[in-house]
Amino acid sequence: MKDVFFIERDPYAPIRHCYAVNKVLYESKSDYQEILVLESPEFGKLLVLDGVVQLDEKYEFMYHEYLAHVPLHAHPNPEDVLIIGGGDGGTLREVLKHESVKRAVLVDIDKEVIEVSKKFFPTLSSGFDDPRSIVVNEDGYKYIQDYEGEFDVVIVDSTDPVGFAHVLTTEDFFRFVHRALKDDGIFVGQTESIHYHLDMVVKVQKNLQRVFPIVDLYTSVVPIYAGYWWTYSIASKKHPVREPSREVKVQTKIYSADMHRYAFLPESFYKSILEGGFRY
Ligand code: SAM
Repeated sequence: MKDVFFIERDPYAPIRHCYAVNKVLYESKSDYQEILVLESPEFGKLLVLDGVVQLDEKYEFMYHEYLAHVPLHAHPNPEDVLIIGGGDGGTLREVLKHESVKRAVLVDIDKEVIEVSKKFFPTLSSGFDDPRSIVVNEDGYKYIQDYEGEFDVVIVDSTDPVGFAHVLTTEDFFRFVHRALKDDGIFVGQTESIHYHLDMVVKVQKNLQRVFPIVDLYTSVVPIYAGYWWTYSIASKKHPVREPSREVKVQTKIYSADMHRYAFLPESFYKSILEGGFRY
């Protein structure tokens, strides 16, 4: 069979990843975005939204484990968790590994992403059947405004901060998050590439610093994201975040207490990024 390639259409990054693919398993346009499911020999199935690869079956844990387990281990007893975005279910799967979690609310604006994930990504969407899971199809920016003192952890697992995802990086959104969190709540959001989006990373960090007393930045390597070195912005109302607050008992592929610690940038480098000392 001749080689067939899929070239990403990522308006938000200066590079284009190219994937050898065997076939197109699904193609549609929902009310919000183009949805594509491809099968590739190296990565397994790929979920593509508006031309940007969101996840693959093989390496997705490199992202979902870091996004979920750093805040959920920094918090001493996470019971009520809100995930905004995350319609593939990968973050939800990781959150539900915590026995302390009594309720995991997933708010994704596009119900079709959830339906597609249930059909094509069973290893990611297993959490949707958990009795603790509640799924809402709404704009997370609107949903969060109805809650006060409700959640222990809020996670933003959104598409790139353009279009309808942009609102999830603004100061007023973070003020709504702060209000929706309990007194010792923790927020985390995926905040793009430390290479290609450093200005956006700094902007989000400053927006968070105007709302939360504790703000920090950690990273992981995500093989399918532009630049590979991916950032997560975390903010806490009370608890420190650079160490797990309790023993790591959940089953993971890469996350551990040591990997939690090493995910955070050294204070000196973090400071130089925020103060403009470090620039490409
Ligand atoms: N970066 C993550 C990844 O690659 O694993 C994103 C995955 S998840 C598919 C991203 C989800 O964010 C999409 O399903 C999209 O519908 C959702 N989303 C974007 N903006 C949103 C908003 N304002 N409210 C709720 N969901 C949103």
